Amino acid sequence: MRNKLFINKLYINGVWKYPVHGGTFDVINPATEEVIHQAPAASEEDVDEAVRAARNAFDQGPWPQMSGRERAYYLRAIANGIRAKLSELARIEVIDNGKPLPEAEWDIGDAAGCFDYYASLAEELDENPVEPIALADGRFTSKAVREPLGVAGAIIPWNYPLLMAAWKVAPALAAGCTVVLKPAALTSLTALELAAIADEARLPPGVLNVVTGSGAKAGQALIDHPGVDKLAFTGSGPVGSTVMAAAARDIKRVSLELGGKSPFIVFADSDIEKAVEWIMFGIFWNQGQVCSATSRVLVQEALYQPLLDRLAEESRKIKIGNGLEEGVLLGPLVSQGQLTQVLAGIDEARRDGAKVVTGGNKPAGFDKGYFLEPTVLADVPLDSRAWTEEFFGPVVCIKPFTDEVEAIRLANDSRFGLAAAVMSADDERCERVAAKLRAGIVWINCSQPTFTEAPWGGYKQSGIGRELGRWGLDNYLETKQITRYTSDEPWGWYLK
Ligand code: NAP
Ligand code: MG
Repeated sequence: MRNKLFINKLYINGVWKYPVHGGTFDVINPATEEVIHQAPAASEEDVDEAVRAARNAFDQGPWPQMSGRERAYYLRAIANGIRAKLSELARIEVIDNGKPLPEAEWDIGDAAGCFDYYASLAEELDENPVEPIALADGRFTSKAVREPLGVAGAIIPWNYPLLMAAWKVAPALAAGCTVVLKPAALTSLTALELAAIADEARLPPGVLNVVTGSGAKAGQALIDHPGVDKLAFTGSGPVGSTVMAAAARDIKRVSLELGGKSPFIVFADSDIEKAVEWIMFGIFWNQGQVCSATSRVLVQEALYQPLLDRLAEESRKIKIGNGLEEGVLLGPLVSQGQLTQVLAGIDEARRDGAKVVTGGNKPAGFDKGYFLEPTVLADVPLDSRAWTEEFFGPVVCIKPFTDEVEAIRLANDSRFGLAAAVMSADDERCERVAAKLRAGIVWINCSQPTFTEAPWGGYKQSGIGRELGRWGLDNYLETKQITRYTSDEPWGWYLK
């Protein structure tokens, strides 16, 4: 069924199978540049088969008819399956994505937690299945019920491979939907492992299907497929736009989680050590390949220079290396393409007049691997792409501001609105600023902590809809009104 190390088949309708045309693609360890596996490349025919399986499992199968409690049983079994393999999955994630092992372990634990959380929400669906609607017209009674919306096509990026799968698959399954999951080709391994765990949990056939392959082929086939009712996408803006256009053609439901250029406002009354810590966590965690990364730091003038100095000093101390090595805090970027793109962005920033305070280059002593130094840029012009567009790498831009009004203006001056953060000793000021920030997620006195229970998603071009929490479940539910005529009187319009 699988080779010694990694899975080399697609998971469709509860069966492991090779792509019909037998295609494969290389899986590369970004720390060593070694090809570690040949993953199966799904063709349009494979995606069609997966969607048909999901369609059949939804239209004819037991899954959407089950009680929430029954579905919760399977979700918990998947959560337990993930936890049972936590260290194995974390190591796979490191050699596939590059992130340091403790981060991967954190992600895998969160992925298990996500399945447990949505198991509880599935059970709650049973407790409140109907909402009575008070009608002004007393001849009728009405109720609203929530129902699974059908087949979900989930497309995810490479930065949190298993966790992004969990954010989509767990709420979709909890709601009673069936799923076709297309992971990023750069990081396909743990999505196939998730299928294996679901298989061991005896999830009914067709409820979860995993098709690995390229976005251009497998992804495009999935978003274009008329058998899909809902597209759930996380990734870049341009592809998000393509997904939304495909959804528009067939009036598919669509939710998008796209990029950002998230600001962090630090007022002068802040504790400098705490500020530096949260900035570093915000931009160097996961090599800065985070949609909500703290990529624009605004510091009030009096604190600007001391904070910049401390940030540069600490950034230089970060241990770079293979994510499997003890003590490493910064692994390689995910791919050569990503490294090339981020280095080009830094060069462009230099040409625009930005100052590279620290970093900006490939670190010395690595002849293999897509490594990049933690990078701090100052004096970045407001119209430079370094300030307006995301690097999706360990690169932070830092800028001084004078007062609250200017800070809010600079923070909101972006086409993105995923996340924002504010730090100050003055709680009222934090609340005031938080209320004015145009972003879906606002952190006060911290940056990046993410919780399964709280809504996640962007304003403006950072996306549409919310994942996580009960909002994440709503993504996969339709609302139906059921209205009854209760009067004994005839309606009496035609038949007088
Ligand atoms: P991407 O190129 O948009 O890819 C995302 C996913 O879409 C991948 O699975 C990709 O497949 C697939 N895809 C590409 N073209 C497609 C098409 N024509 N039809 C259907 N699917 C297609 O993004 P990325 O480079 O992987 O990730 C980086 C970006 O994602 C950044 O901009 C970042 O901000 C954003 N992001 C956002 C969030 C969030 O929560 N908001 C989280 C993570 C990342 P292949 O890669 O296999 O070709
Ligand atoms: Mg890889």
